[in-house]
Amino acid sequence: MSNEEKDSDHCQKNVSSETAIVQLGNRKFTDTGSINTPIFLSTTYQHPEFGQSTGYDYTRTKNPTRAVLEEGLALLENGRFGFATSSGMSAILLVLDLFDSGSHIVASRDLYGGSYRYFTDLEKKPKITFSYSESEEQFETLIQEDTVALFVETPTNPLMEEVSIENLAKIAKKHQILLIVDNTFYTPYIQKPLDLGADIVIHSATKYLCGHNDVLAGAVMVKDEKIAEQLEFQLNTTGVVLSPFDSWLVIRGLKTFPLRMERHEANAKEVVAFLKTVKEVKKVFYPGRGGMVSFKINNESAIGIFLNALKVVTFAESLGGVESLITYPTTQTHADIPEKLRIEYGLTNDLLRLSVGIERSSDIIQDLQQAFEKIEN
Ligand SMILES: *Cc1c(COP(=O)(O)O)cnc(C)c1O
Repeated sequence: MSNEEKDSDHCQKNVSSETAIVQLGNRKFTDTGSINTPIFLSTTYQHPEFGQSTGYDYTRTKNPTRAVLEEGLALLENGRFGFATSSGMSAILLVLDLFDSGSHIVASRDLYGGSYRYFTDLEKKPKITFSYSESEEQFETLIQEDTVALFVETPTNPLMEEVSIENLAKIAKKHQILLIVDNTFYTPYIQKPLDLGADIVIHSATKYLCGHNDVLAGAVMVKDEKIAEQLEFQLNTTGVVLSPFDSWLVIRGLKTFPLRMERHEANAKEVVAFLKTVKEVKKVFYPGRGGMVSFKINNESAIGIFLNALKVVTFAESLGGVESLITYPTTQTHADIPEKLRIEYGLTNDLLRLSVGIERSSDIIQDLQQAFEKIEN
């Protein structure tokens, strides 16, 4: 939905996006003065008169609760348009729906396992084909006649390698193709890909944007009106929209988003400093920003003992929530990537991925320390 209409009287002007996000939905529902956005469950909306619409007709097309969230999503990434989808995967599906059968995409080699699974499935149909780039430089060399887009994660998941969005945007422009960035890991708190030249930003809002490990949601943000029109058409057509309840939960999550990110990042830096002192740790992967940290341990066979010993950090899939979670990509998030391929590009079986939560950092570190002591030999 366009966030242009939001610039009407009830919205505060000239405030930072951080303030606007905290107040998302406030001053909008003037009938009641409700500070919080109501959850509009009604699937259908009365026409004031024949041939007229309030702007809301049917909830798949547009829902008032979702519209407030979409305004906030656009605001976060400095986009003009935001779309709230039923999951991060459906956000990716929505975006890839922009392309014709027979298109080719160059994607990051180190990629969220679910994205890789989906791309592999598309190749089997066959609908879209993919090449995978292992470095910033390699992207351009993989562009073919039928390439329509670059699909980038930076930093990558879980090896935390960064590429320059600005450089890739220049390459995309030169070849007249789109640059799509999955910004789930860094979030707009750290980088705003649309400002750096990307055309489309995707999020698993399940992660940092909502931030409480209690909603499955996705987001797509763009500046370009034509792309927005296509996305809006496709979203209404396929119906992979976010429900009003879940939209409300993401709005609620967004209000503390910058605050949470600040703490995630500060805690992650402390955890990284600690991990670098641990002799059981072979290598730490941290790009210097954000709340995600990966590390490899010397004794791969002790991974089970280490995970079982944790009492504060929880052994579970996913990331970006207030609770610290530790993931074993080999059997969890990246299990669908063939082992040989994974190992070739560095995602080996001795790697653990830590989503550093917002607990007190000393508690997280103490927990990791006592678990490392169990595997000392
Ligand atoms: C989790 C994740 C997705 C998929 O999102 P869902 O909300 O789980 O469908 C996509 N990309 C990245 C980087 C993710 O971490």
